[in-house]
Amino acid sequence: MSYADPIEQLIRAFRQLPSVGQRSAERFVFSLLKSGKKDAAELTLALKGLIQEMKSCSKCWVFHTSSPCPICANTNRDHSCLCIVAEPQDVEVIERMGTYKGLYHVLRGTVDSEHSPEYTKIPDLFTRLKSGKIKEVILALNQNMRGETTTMYIEQFMRKETPDIILTRLARGLPMGSDLQYADDTTLASAFRHRTTRP
Ligand SMILES: [Zn+2]
Repeated sequence: MSYADPIEQLIRAFRQLPSVGQRSAERFVFSLLKSGKKDAAELTLALKGLIQEMKSCSKCWVFHTSSPCPICANTNRDHSCLCIVAEPQDVEVIERMGTYKGLYHVLRGTVDSEHSPEYTKIPDLFTRLKSGKIKEVILALNQNMRGETTTMYIEQFMRKETPDIILTRLARGLPMGSDLQYADDTTLASAFRHRTTRP
């Protein structure tokens, strides 16, 4: 026996989200049903707002209500320095630290043998690097296999195409295999301060 159509439909929608399996999706749907109309209405409103108001920043690919985003539009920031991160949430983590004053480029993913660069914002990054406006690049990708592969891919391009840009990567203060998003501010700040050029 399967659930009524509207239930099945929402379960399917929840299951598309990362780390949500059948059981969790069912729990979400029945929790919404049990709470009456209020929670579902709030969720509907929030989703509507997300779809209608959020934009992709045309420069750094972060999500914001304006494009360019406030970071890219801020003339007090160093527009010659670019910090490269994998996910939009990573920008938030670094901004919270409060010491970085350059701009960002969000890759929206990383590469490996199954995920090619075309599905990320790496081609846009390469165009940006070749524009001649960038003097320093900080690679702040997760220190795991995919982060490493992506870092190497970008380094290879830069060595060949933009050798004048200073290239640094975060120091190895972050636990290996960990996500930037789970690093505490002190560890992250230290990894930033002690960032190194590639040997
Ligand atoms: Zn931006």
